Amino acid sequence: MSKVYLSPERRPAPHGKYWGMNVYEHDVCVDIAALLASMLTAHGFEVKTADPAKDMAARVKEATAWGANYYMPVHTNANTLGDKEGTARGPLVLAYDHPMSKSACQMAYDCLMEIYPGNGQGVRVNKDFYEIIQTPMLSVYPELAFHDNGEDARWLVSNKEKIALALCRGICMWFGVEWQDSPVTEIPATEPDQEELERVIQERDAARAQVDALKALAEEFVKKVREA
Ligand SMILES: [Zn+2]
Repeated sequence: MSKVYLSPERRPAPHGKYWGMNVYEHDVCVDIAALLASMLTAHGFEVKTADPAKDMAARVKEATAWGANYYMPVHTNANTLGDKEGTARGPLVLAYDHPMSKSACQMAYDCLMEIYPGNGQGVRVNKDFYEIIQTPMLSVYPELAFHDNGEDARWLVSNKEKIALALCRGICMWFGVEWQDSPVTEIPATEPDQEELERVIQERDAARAQVDALKALAEEFVKKVREA
């Protein structure tokens, strides 16, 4: 079973204020990571999500010791210091400078672009970020959209589930896991079959008991007739 380690933005408020709202990067990224974790679990992955208190070095260490196959930080982006609204927009996925990382990042990016209403920033090689250059396993680093832009900030807060689903799709694609739109609702669909089977067995047993009772009655009747 493939293991996915999720590392949502660690720094709490006031880091990463969303433009025009009282929302911060940490909270949105933690929410999306939680949604993503349950979707990945439903698709058969083992998932571990970083404790908010852990710093990046502790996270990479934990993921490595656990044997993670895929490491995904979850962030939203900014290109200003928050004093004025940013103009940059759209998803960006940061890759390690290796063909394997680039293609896994491209899959995540393509899935995000299926739901993002506009132009994105593409896949870009990054040679500085700790969780890209110090991860011994594959790392796919999405910057989901720009939270210092009002339109992007609104898109982020109102599409957490869609975004998590897109990230899940990108990960499934990488591991060749067959995609199911809603595995969570499809799994219980097999349960009525089991119930149906149990119902049929119960009916059969009830019918058998009825036949046995009738036989006993008939035997008793025959016996009485013979005795008479
Ligand atoms: Zn961040």
